[in-house]
Formats: sequence, C-alpha cells, structure tokens
Amino acid sequence: MIISIDSNSGFCFGVTRAIQAAESELQKGSLYCLGDIVHNGQEVARLEMKGLATIDYDDLRTLPSHSRVLLRAHGEPPSTYWIAQQRSIEIIDATCPVVKKLQDRIRACYEQHKNDESVPPQIVIYGKPGHAEVIGLQGQTNNTAIVIESVDQLDRLDFTRPIYLFSQTTKSVEGFHSLVEAIKSKISNLKYPIALEAHDTICRSVANRVKELQAFARANDIVLFVGGTKSSNAKVLFNHCKEANPNTFFISSPDEVENLKSKIINHKSTNPDTKVGICGATSTPLWLMEAVSERLSAS
Ligand code: SF4
Repeated sequence: MIISIDSNSGFCFGVTRAIQAAESELQKGSLYCLGDIVHNGQEVARLEMKGLATIDYDDLRTLPSHSRVLLRAHGEPPSTYWIAQQRSIEIIDATCPVVKKLQDRIRACYEQHKNDESVPPQIVIYGKPGHAEVIGLQGQTNNTAIVIESVDQLDRLDFTRPIYLFSQTTKSVEGFHSLVEAIKSKISNLKYPIALEAHDTICRSVANRVKELQAFARANDIVLFVGGTKSSNAKVLFNHCKEANPNTFFISSPDEVENLKSKIINHKSTNPDTKVGICGATSTPLWLMEAVSERLSAS
C-alpha cells in the first residue's frame, strides 16, 4: 500500500494567521477566542490545552473587563466590537484580511445606497445562513442583507429594486456564476429591468483547491478526506473529492481509520500497490493528516 498526503491540503493563509496570533498571544497571558478558532475539533483541543478558552456571545457580555478576546479569521459584525468597547474588553483581531476587505466593500455599498429612498437597494449575499463569516457580513448592512444559498431561493429577492450581489469567501465559483446567470435571466424578462451589480468575492485560496484536490483524488485508489464535522468548507471539498473518486471517505480523527480497514484490505487483496491518498479542508491541520497516515501505516 502506498500512502501519500496531499501537499495542497491544510490550513489556508487566514486560518494559519489566526492560529499564529493565538499562539503568540497565549504567551502573554490568558486569552479567549469568540467561537471555535477553526472548524476542527482536534485543533481547537490542541490550543485549549495551551490555555485558549473558547467562548460564545453570552460569555462575551459577562467576561471581566480587560479580558483579552481573539476574533477568528471569519470576522465579526460591528456589534461585537461595540460590546467589547462597552465592556473594556481588549480585542485581538485575527480577521482574515481577505474577509476584512469584503466587509469593507459591503459596508461601503450599504452606506452609499442606504438613503436611496425611491428605489431602496438590496444587498444580497450568496452564502450559508448562520455561518460566522456571513453573520459578520450581514452586520455591515445593519442586518438588512438578504442571504441566499441557491437559485431556488430567488423568490426571496424583490425584482423591482436594484441588486448588489456579493459572495461569502468560501462558496463555489460555479454556484456563484449560476446564481448570476439566473438573476440576469429573470431581469431580462422584466417589463422594467433593474440594475444588477455582481461582485465575485470568492477567496481563490479555497476555489483553486477544488481542481488540485480532484486531481489528487483521481491519482489515488482510495481517498481519506480528513475534516471537522462542523466545517462547511470540509463538506464542500469532500463532495468535490467524492465526485472525482467515489472511493473517498470522510473521517475526522485517526481512530476512524479502523472503520475503513475492511474496505482498504479488500482493495489491497486485488491490488497490493493500492494507493491511499490523505487530504483535507482549509481547516484541517497537517499534523492531523500525518496522524491518520501513521495510523494507516500501523494497521
Ligand atoms: S478561505 Fe480565504 S478568506 Fe477565508 S480565511 Fe482562508 S484565506 Fe481568508
């Protein structure tokens, strides 16, 4: 059996930066993180062992003043900064610069058009409702932005008002372009066509991974995709891998290798040179993929 780890898998720039910030700030004293720093339970546990305490919004309102709170790569709405300021909480802002730039663009669009009373505009975000990044983006519009996930939800838009469309950074490029085409097609059938401004704000650090991951999946007989069950990026990338190679399996920890043993042994019995590839999401740490590889070698 030949085991390899995909060199293109693992933390993206924004997540690496947030984790480095946490590790460096932990050396200065106690540190809280608002929400899981990354959608990967093992990495959260590793940092918690070093002293990082994960909190939620209720905790933020009751922390002692002068506590230090790290904001993760997904970013936060303005209300979080406001609460921190009111409560004299020190913010360590590890929002990914790509997300920060998107927040600024959405806020600028909202500020520019919020007083267009004759034809109030709609800011639309192509994203997952309730996702941390999306909550941060909606906050830039005083929570007036409409969040839609697919073309099936177009009936939630008002086709008598201009549309300003943006995307959550981790959505698929194909999905975004299908949505734009569907909106354009609806507009072209209107008696009074409306304006559409579509901004493709998908992070290429994720979008470019799909092709690389699919090539890796095709080059292997069996693929173990390592990801957190809470990560939407992991689910999306896993589905792309599975599309390229149906023998792709989702696991979250090395312990789950045991459940796949019979499948791997079956394959090995017909081909002793079975290639097993290990890959993961932008939230999957390299050390976890290495631990899966070690477990596999030992089994
Ligand atoms: S996926 Fe892109 S935008 Fe999101 S945290 Fe990573 S680098 Fe930043």
